[in-house]
Amino acid sequence: MANEKVEVILDTHKCQGYGLCLGADDVFDLDSSVNIARLKTRFVDVSRLGEIEQIARDCPANAISCRVVQE
Ligand code: SF4
Repeated sequence: MANEKVEVILDTHKCQGYGLCLGADDVFDLDSSVNIARLKTRFVDVSRLGEIEQIARDCPANAISCRVVQE
């Protein structure tokens, strides 16, 4: 049975640097030189799907999405 993970997808072209995603600071980071978010990790445990979906909904720039993938 494959292990499911959540792939976090960040569109750096849409990101406006609002920083709301930094609540999950093990996943997101803000590059202060350009004020654009970056991913510290691309895959997180599937148990965090709801959390990542909420962060994606809360992003004012709609720059975050996610999908469940098989490892
Ligand atoms: S919440 Fe969205 S717009 Fe704000 S820093 Fe994160 S990805 Fe960028």
